Amino acid sequence: MLNLTGKNALVTGIANNRSIAWGIAQQLHKAGANLGITYLPDERGKMEKKVAELVEPLNPSLFLPCNVQDEDQIKSTFETIREQWEKLDILIHCLAFASKDDLSGDFSQTSRSGFNTALEISTYSLVQLSGAAKPLMTEGGSIVTLTYLGGVRAIPNYNVMGVAKAGLEMSVRYLAAELGPQNIRVNAISAGPIRTLASSAVGGILDMIHHVEEVAPLRRTVTQLEVGNAAAFLCSDLSSGITGQILYVDAGYEIMGM
Ligand code: NAD
Repeated sequence: MLNLTGKNALVTGIANNRSIAWGIAQQLHKAGANLGITYLPDERGKMEKKVAELVEPLNPSLFLPCNVQDEDQIKSTFETIREQWEKLDILIHCLAFASKDDLSGDFSQTSRSGFNTALEISTYSLVQLSGAAKPLMTEGGSIVTLTYLGGVRAIPNYNVMGVAKAGLEMSVRYLAAELGPQNIRVNAISAGPIRTLASSAVGGILDMIHHVEEVAPLRRTVTQLEVGNAAAFLCSDLSSGITGQILYVDAGYEIMGM
């Protein structure tokens, strides 16, 4: 039985009800996990209000601002977890960013700052959050991040985000190797294309979705809740022997040659 009762889970990356992290948070809650939610703060507090209203039915016991470009916010997030929860069991890393300019056109024209920002937010943040989570995962744990096929194959317009995802997938393996002796497992879910705020910045996302609907073995793409179910599995004891893996939740698209 998939049961996360008694597990403390920190979920990053909820921006709205289309976010993959929202699908994951709902499924972790359904399985009994105690949730902490972080959001990306903005100056006018709009994101805080929006995300707070959305997640209210899941009764999160922590609700914290955490911009991964801000060391102090990361420090304070994990200090609060230590004070209020004492231990952390689950970390969901479900965030990414690249400038819209770098998500279409020629990859060779990616700017230095665009490249650095995409890799800092989308890749380095997994390393940083995992490092902060490690001392709190005193009873073992599960870390799950989100990746995409564009980190393995050249997908039109995915460009710098493909490089970021390749780095993310390799970070999963290095983290899994380091944290395994502490019984902390680290895995990634490679989701099929889903319409969200982040994916709408990728040029031609609707064409990508239609292509998957025509070609994938299941003749459709996936939902946030299906990704959430896979995440709940990877966070539970049902997956106790699995670490360092990339699990494709993509209606089978990845196996197809044409
Ligand atoms: P989304 O826009 O709902 O989520 C992206 C999140 O990243 C947002 O909550 C945003 O606030 C957060 N974020 C951006 N910059 C941040 C920062 N500096 N600090 C903290 N948070 C920050 O979109 P999504 O599609 O749900 O994306 C979630 C993850 O899933 C990403 O890693 C994305 O690459 C991955 N993914 C998405 C798809 C897809 O088709 N939507 C497919 C495969 C993988």
